[in-house]
Amino acid sequence: MSGGVEHRGSTPAEAVLAPFRKDGGRALMLGHVHPDADVLGTLLALGLALEGRGWSVAYGGPHAAPGALGFLPGIERYGRLAEVGGPFDVAVLTDCPNPQRTEGLIDQARRAARLIVNIDHHPDNRRYADVNWLDVEAAATGEMVYELLEALGAPLTPPIATNLFTAIHTDTGSFRYSNVTARTFRTAAALVAAGAEPALVSESLYERRAPDALRWLGESLARVEVSDAGRLAWLALPAGAVPETFVESEELVNYPRSIATVRVACLFRERGGEVKVSLRGKGDVDVQRIAAQFGGGGHRSAAGCTVPGPVAAAMRAVLAAARAALAEARPGAPR
Ligand code: AMP
Ligand code: MN
Ligand code: MN
Repeated sequence: MSGGVEHRGSTPAEAVLAPFRKDGGRALMLGHVHPDADVLGTLLALGLALEGRGWSVAYGGPHAAPGALGFLPGIERYGRLAEVGGPFDVAVLTDCPNPQRTEGLIDQARRAARLIVNIDHHPDNRRYADVNWLDVEAAATGEMVYELLEALGAPLTPPIATNLFTAIHTDTGSFRYSNVTARTFRTAAALVAAGAEPALVSESLYERRAPDALRWLGESLARVEVSDAGRLAWLALPAGAVPETFVESEELVNYPRSIATVRVACLFRERGGEVKVSLRGKGDVDVQRIAAQFGGGGHRSAAGCTVPGPVAAAMRAVLAAARAALAEARPGAPR
């Protein structure tokens, strides 16, 4: 959306801080489709900080929070919104590059709120708000909201610290991906000092599987396929192959990604006639460019798109695009 203020970089400008400076107000924390820990952790952290200063805050988005993130402090406040309500002084979107990822709720928010603020780390952000703060160097929006709260002088309570720590934990694959920087660890250290408990977050994220989940994991892993001299690997789950709640609580694309030779890994999940595709790159291939060909987006090494089913057709189209990207990344490599 043109006409808005744009600010880039790791330190929030006054235009970003000003909407949150007053004591007391009404805010909407608006999430993106299928919310993950980065969007939920940042909306909750900022919302809880505002509530601490007397604001009244509403939280929600097009889909409910996944059960696996039920440990985030304040998550019971977040739910699926049919109507955004209001009026609000400010509506905040975090980790949301494209207003379409609110499934139309942004249009209601524009009517209900005096100001829309967009805080995001995706390179393909559409700058759709009145105030757009973009930091493509941030590993997670969690790093940005930490800077925002610091600049506002907001107390980092343990619930706020836990939300931001979890946001950073998940978007960095537990501090393992190429987006991790010294700043990531500095921020994480400050959040642990403020009361985030790393072992508790890890256990909550990765060690709360249902007993049956290991069987579903086995069924899923048996579907991994590898081609193109080991450079391309994928995992396809037709509708009903394993429970949706299981897929939501696992980063299944990490398994094809974990193969040494793989440059591009894909996960295809069929649901309701559509196929949700997760793409991961290791190093030389920009998977965001593959996702963009199908109307999706994301980051250089982690992107996604949703394409029409059935799963076989989705695989044909996306794997062809992935092969083209591999050929471009290393011309002459075996196909
Ligand atoms: P995921 O594979 O769902 O974990 O998503 C990885 C990255 O790709 C995240 O940054 C998402 O915001 C982005 N992404 C996933 N699906 C889409 C989509 N359909 N449209 C735009 N971006 C997407
Ligand atoms: Mn997200
Ligand atoms: Mn993110």
